[in-house]
Amino acid sequence: GVLVAGSANLDFVIRAGHVPAPGETVLGRGFDTFPGGKGANQAVACARGGGVATRMLLALGEDAFAAPIEASLRAAGVATTVVRTREQPTGVAFICLSDTAENAITVAPGANSLLRPADLPPFDDTTHLLLQLETPLDSVAAWARAARAAGVAVVLNAAPAQCLPADLLREVDLLIVNEGELARLSGVEGDVAAAIDALAVPDIVVTLGARGCCARIGGQRLLQPAFSVQALDTTGAGDTFCGTLVAELSRRQPFAAALRYACAASALACERLGAQAGVPSRAEVERLLRD
Ligand code: ADP
Repeated sequence: GVLVAGSANLDFVIRAGHVPAPGETVLGRGFDTFPGGKGANQAVACARGGGVATRMLLALGEDAFAAPIEASLRAAGVATTVVRTREQPTGVAFICLSDTAENAITVAPGANSLLRPADLPPFDDTTHLLLQLETPLDSVAAWARAARAAGVAVVLNAAPAQCLPADLLREVDLLIVNEGELARLSGVEGDVAAAIDALAVPDIVVTLGARGCCARIGGQRLLQPAFSVQALDTTGAGDTFCGTLVAELSRRQPFAAALRYACAASALACERLGAQAGVPSRAEVERLLRD
């Protein structure tokens, strides 16, 4: 199975005509809360979209925002190891979504910032550890080292974009990034192939939005075009991609087939609202792959 160690937030979303400028007040229309956070989104994608046994390490405050997050993970069949704290509130994100699909997001990591190296549960039957960068970097590095030492494959989705210490990258078996994150990590702008070659990780996958994804796996280059859909909300497409890709690798699918599966699942996620609510079931992904 797959172990995800990462962030869980409650997203507060207001839809409005435009994203406010500094000092401006905009009257919005609807208001919704959605369970989010890259870690929780990817765990849901792995369990529901990938159909693989999934556990998540997460941290929550002792407040009303924790319950919907736990309910969403439970509904997807994700087993949880929860660090519950009085020191910090549950992580939240305030999201303003404009009619032109622009957004402005502020995140208060809260409890997520308290996750420590020692919080990681035992690996048991874990084949892959899936990590992101919304939890403290020293914890991410320690978790990667522990997995490597236990013979568990380390997958890092290096999002949100930031530079990484070389000693963390050395512990990574598979790196998943979008074009912005790739440029930030490699220092190479505007040339995906050159940027990939500048990074010393064994395997790397780059998501290319509506163009699909490309990869360098064991020195071999792969390209997977996107599936054509009517995109409504691309929030969480990248997370659905990461979770389902790792699920397929955990069930020992060949890499090219796993990329195709992840592209199909993330395309379906673009057709629906909400990062976790938008994750398709395994049956829905298989239907798209058959048609
Ligand atoms: P992120 O959201 O992390 O920036 P991308 O935008 O690269 O990630 O999207 C991740 C994946 O989601 C892509 O590799 C692709 O498979 C799928 N995807 C994203 N946007 C679309 C789209 N408009 N149509 C079809 N698939 C899409």
